[in-house]
Amino acid sequence: MELLEYLQLLGVYMIEKEIKSLRDEINKHNYNYYTLDNPTISDYEYDTLFSRLKELEAMYPEMITPDSPTQRVGGISSSFEEHKHKYRLYSLDNTYNEEELKKWYERVQKEFSEPVQLVCELKIDGLAIALTYKDGYFTTGVTRGDGVIGENITQNLKTIKSIPLKLFKNTDIEVRGEIYMPKSSFEKLNEENKEKGEKLFANPRNAAAGSLRQLDSSITAKRDLSMFTYTAIVEQGDFLPKTHWDSIQYIKELGFKTNPNIRLVDDINGAIQFCKDWETKRFELDYATDGVVIKVNRLDYQNELGFTSRAPKWATAFKFPPEEMTTKLLDIELGVGKTGAVTPVAVLEPVNLAGSIVSRASLHNFDEIKRLDIRIGDTVLIKKAAEIIPKVIKVIDSEEHETLPVYEPPKKCPECEGLLITREGEVNLFCDNPNCSSIVKSRLEYWVSKEAMDIDFIGPSVISQLYDLGLVTKPVDLYKLHYEDFFKLENVKEKSATNMFNSIQNSKNQTFSRFVTALSIRHVGKETAELLINEFPTIEALKQASLEQLSSIEGIGDKIAQSIYEFFHDENNLILLDEFEKLGFSFENNALNKTEELLGKTFVLTGTLTSMTRDEAGDKIKIRGGKTSSSVSKNTSYVIAGANPGSKLDKAEKLGVIILNEDEFLKLIGE
Ligand code: NAD
Repeated sequence: MELLEYLQLLGVYMIEKEIKSLRDEINKHNYNYYTLDNPTISDYEYDTLFSRLKELEAMYPEMITPDSPTQRVGGISSSFEEHKHKYRLYSLDNTYNEEELKKWYERVQKEFSEPVQLVCELKIDGLAIALTYKDGYFTTGVTRGDGVIGENITQNLKTIKSIPLKLFKNTDIEVRGEIYMPKSSFEKLNEENKEKGEKLFANPRNAAAGSLRQLDSSITAKRDLSMFTYTAIVEQGDFLPKTHWDSIQYIKELGFKTNPNIRLVDDINGAIQFCKDWETKRFELDYATDGVVIKVNRLDYQNELGFTSRAPKWATAFKFPPEEMTTKLLDIELGVGKTGAVTPVAVLEPVNLAGSIVSRASLHNFDEIKRLDIRIGDTVLIKKAAEIIPKVIKVIDSEEHETLPVYEPPKKCPECEGLLITREGEVNLFCDNPNCSSIVKSRLEYWVSKEAMDIDFIGPSVISQLYDLGLVTKPVDLYKLHYEDFFKLENVKEKSATNMFNSIQNSKNQTFSRFVTALSIRHVGKETAELLINEFPTIEALKQASLEQLSSIEGIGDKIAQSIYEFFHDENNLILLDEFEKLGFSFENNALNKTEELLGKTFVLTGTLTSMTRDEAGDKIKIRGGKTSSSVSKNTSYVIAGANPGSKLDKAEKLGVIILNEDEFLKLIGE
């Protein structure tokens, strides 16, 4: 055999081997995902395997087999009665960037002589379901399954309130939609399961799938599931939609819940903008979305374009950068916080997550490490949502895991080497040494932080230097610093020394609520500090408050009350407070200058303001007797909308809540 021929054969053999291995691996993950509701890799990693298989099959079409995962849709589990779909359900092809979207649109556009309008919808990360209605009555609900045969889960679906049992019109119709569990309900369910020592779900999609596939529908009924309907197949009746957009309006009228974040656009540029908008806005939603689905609007065009063996050619899914990834846990570092709590932090092999490189993640506490049996060297699944710090969700099963040593929590403080203690009712381990440099520095860092006194120009590095130079060991020392002291810090010239000095001195005028927050009283954060000073508006009142009075404040439980009481009865703290008073701090709830317009009113802030941050706007509201809330409801008095407002604005419009722009807000508060 010629060398060239031999090399060609070897190449084909290697490709065949890779294709087989990819198919085996993808099939294994399909089983974990669709049947066990327990994926062991992230969706992004799954999609990467899938794309590679598609790429190889495109290069060697003779190697495509009908049972290849690229030729099929999803998978089914066998616990329920099988049901053959009247109309096939498909998956979606994915795109990951602008270029791919444009290519898809070119393929679509070239079939038609006029511009092809598109409908953009959020891709809800849940479970596809087909619902059949006869004469307006819900008859059958089936999972997508392999697209041809699904599982009949009608009884379970009947427990979901957003699925109408009777439509507003007596018509025959089949609709498709996505069953999902709100993120907040998923967190709650996992909390409850954790307490009961039951299985935790990796993400809201798995929780929704697990809840739907319960053989006992009374369990499904207890789970908070909902459905967004996004497709209708209307074959008869007084209205036959001609476009996808019209069919969505129609099913809304029939009583189905549809997603409000849907847009009709003229071409792919509009769709690209929609994808860009939602890449960050998605984190404000209480349901998981992993992308945008872009569909050709005209139904006759959809018919003309048709389907591949697994997906429509008239639609594509644009996938957002992944929120979840697997990576290697290289080490567990220990940090000591302002309360003395020792927290483990995962040091990871860097990975790209939701658009940024992540190399550290939260591990919560040592109980969590034990519960998940996390060991250094493990492959772990990590997750990130918006600005929230990434966290380790679970360990990926592997043979290697068993060979790694079980992680032992520390016995001594990593900083001062003092023995660690446990505290009743708390999961953390604590360093009990008030002079531990980590605790002291963390408290100082918290004092200057945005959440507390919000002192500009002073960050952790400055704090660390001031501490190491012996200039500052407690917050009050910051106010005793002389201008000249700042020149002892690295690379500090006149301008930054002035900035730092002024910024510290100006913070004496911060609100009383920020001062109380900054004190780092155990269990007292920003919200609790506000509750507290509304009842006890001066430092004297706080010192005099009895335990009973404190615990009778709504939102302050016994444990918090006890901690506040102890703080204001500790000799050292009282000396400290005296020092602050002598330095000219005003110990009064500035909210005493309440204004009529704001008193008792609830404000929701959304978007970016130009003259202040949202936190600062919140302070201005509270000082005047108003309240802030993070979500819009019918009890919201005003929504203040800055640039690029989120979905809160849409909700406010829907509920008829008064919406103010920044100027109108400033006018309202008299600034
Ligand atoms: P898909 O989730 O990528 O896309 C198709 C599905 O999108 C539809 O079936 C429908 O359920 C859903 N969808 C949501 N909103 C929609 C809307 N507005 N309009 C139309 N459809 C909408 O495809 P798939 O076949 O269900 O699953 C494949 C995906 O599942 C993979 O890309 C991967 O992300 C994930 N997966 C992961 C693993 C794993 O191990 N991590 C395994 C298998 C599959």
